[in-house]
Amino acid sequence: MKGVLGELQVNLAARFFLDKNQYKLFKNVTLPTEDGSTQIDHIIVSRYGVFVIETKNIRGWIFGGQNQKTWTQKIYRHTQKFQTPLHQNYKHTETLKSALQIAPEKMFSLVVFVGNSEFKTPMPENVVYGGAYIRFIKSKIQPILTETEVKTIASSIESGRLTPSIKTHRTHVKHVKKIVEDKQRSLDENLCPKCGNPMVLRKTRSGVNQGKQFWGCSGFPKCRMIRQIP
Ligand SMILES: [Zn+2]
Repeated sequence: MKGVLGELQVNLAARFFLDKNQYKLFKNVTLPTEDGSTQIDHIIVSRYGVFVIETKNIRGWIFGGQNQKTWTQKIYRHTQKFQTPLHQNYKHTETLKSALQIAPEKMFSLVVFVGNSEFKTPMPENVVYGGAYIRFIKSKIQPILTETEVKTIASSIESGRLTPSIKTHRTHVKHVKKIVEDKQRSLDENLCPKCGNPMVLRKTRSGVNQGKQFWGCSGFPKCRMIRQIP
């Protein structure tokens, strides 16, 4: 119930305080990741940037800073550590960024505490209580995306057409891996990395290195690839 209330708080605030023609709100967006999927509570897309919002429903006193990996919740006499939602949301933002192919400076990560909590340490700038997130969003007044970009991003999120770019990324990783493997294979089998012909042992004929051996491509003189023997 509490969780639902928290979500509602964010949804309602958005509905009442953000012009829906300028700010497009998306709820519970599932994004594919390398190891499964991740869910983003809220994404708000506007000309002022893409806001990635994580809601955190936690009660009690909160202790935590910008750069700490874990934060602490104190309720009555119980103390409990939890992963900083900033770190969690950073991963969400990164995933969305690669799916949408947008520049990092056009995205804002925002954590909203919706439970009955109180920070006992200074709150990082992008961590707020309840409806105060509206103020954070409205503090961004510089348009950084065009109307068309906003439309494209919104429709990508809407249609769930976020998979292709991640697949593309995976294909890219595979491609790079293949290049590295091919290079390693040519080293193992002592083939020329440039033309694939076997490398043969040769001797330097003149100069300071005279008599020194090296691997030269058997395709010489067509291919002049050499590999020094350390
Ligand atoms: Zn060669």
